[in-house]
Amino acid sequence: MVTVLDRLFGIFSTDMGIDLGTCNTLVCVKGEGIVLSEPSVVAVRKGTNQVLLNGQAVGHAAKQMLGKTPGAIDAIRPLKDGVIADFEITEQMIKYFIRKVGNRNRWMRPRVVIAHPSGITAVEKRAVIQSAERAGARRVILVPEPIAAALGVGLPIEEPLGSMICDIGGGTAEVAVLSLVGVVSSTSVRIAGDEMDEAIMKHMKETYNLLVGVQTSERIKINIGSAYPLEREMSMEVKGRDLVTAMPRKVVVTSEEIREALRGPISLIIRAIRETLEKTPPELSADLVDEGLVLAGGGALIRGIDKAIHKDIEIPVRIAEDPLTAVARGCGVILDNLDQLKDVLESGEELL
Ligand code: ADP
Ligand code: MG
Repeated sequence: MVTVLDRLFGIFSTDMGIDLGTCNTLVCVKGEGIVLSEPSVVAVRKGTNQVLLNGQAVGHAAKQMLGKTPGAIDAIRPLKDGVIADFEITEQMIKYFIRKVGNRNRWMRPRVVIAHPSGITAVEKRAVIQSAERAGARRVILVPEPIAAALGVGLPIEEPLGSMICDIGGGTAEVAVLSLVGVVSSTSVRIAGDEMDEAIMKHMKETYNLLVGVQTSERIKINIGSAYPLEREMSMEVKGRDLVTAMPRKVVVTSEEIREALRGPISLIIRAIRETLEKTPPELSADLVDEGLVLAGGGALIRGIDKAIHKDIEIPVRIAEDPLTAVARGCGVILDNLDQLKDVLESGEELL
């Protein structure tokens, strides 16, 4: 029910959209675009839910602590595998981001569109809604990540035409075929950027007896990682701890060997794309022959991933422009068209 007060608040409030990713949370504000982009990390006192720095150890401040925390501190990624590992910590994180953005006019209660990993359960959805409400949201609208990503990259998902998106994030890769603003077929796998980092860590250990941390293996992936042979192969120096002597040591690794290390996780993502296509009704499959697949999320930035997918599945593959912000931009599109879209999206009231 829309009350007069709600309307009044609505005129002045900063409606916002949140891409609640397993790695990064982005917030966009209606009319302003993306105003915040921070890692989905919270630092707490070990064994408690007490967020450090008086509740401020969230995002950038907390990510710096990942893998470098002394005994008494835990740096947690509450959504790491695409499910909510810890409700309370997730709530603190959502509140922190909403308040950080909403601070400019804190007496206004915004409507909040939240894009979430599509694998979360009804209980988890309710927890997300309640967290946002406790942080001051007047109304919460949930949208599955692939729908937001597709809107963000400009796919015509409101038409009776098949569109396909693959969003490769940190914890999950989500593949979906969409039509008429609905998900027709989809697959979500817990194989994405994090698995790639782990594959690189394993390679360093097995090939060089060198232990490297997650931040280092992520850097290797970003600097020289690829899914398809490069025109000019690359190399980089990597530092870590020798497994035998326990002393610091450095080695030089090449893009060829890192590609080999990434082959496992990347082939599983390609398999998820194949499975989604197999589940798609023939009329929509026919559309995809020409329209192809769009890649979004940070994993779309792995060099040559479009070529690797195209080689295996012969539909056109395109990497979205600025893939890391696709979901957040999609939330912005939803904010701009909330009245038309709200019927097809889940809102707090219906879930509760
Ligand atoms: P999520 O939606 O799960 O928060 P993102 O879409 O923000 O995830 O993507 C984060 C993932 O993308 C991380 O695993 C990160 O290492 C990876 N990533 C970011 N930039 C690059 C890049 N240039 N090359 C390869 N992977 C990248
Ligand atoms: Mg994402």
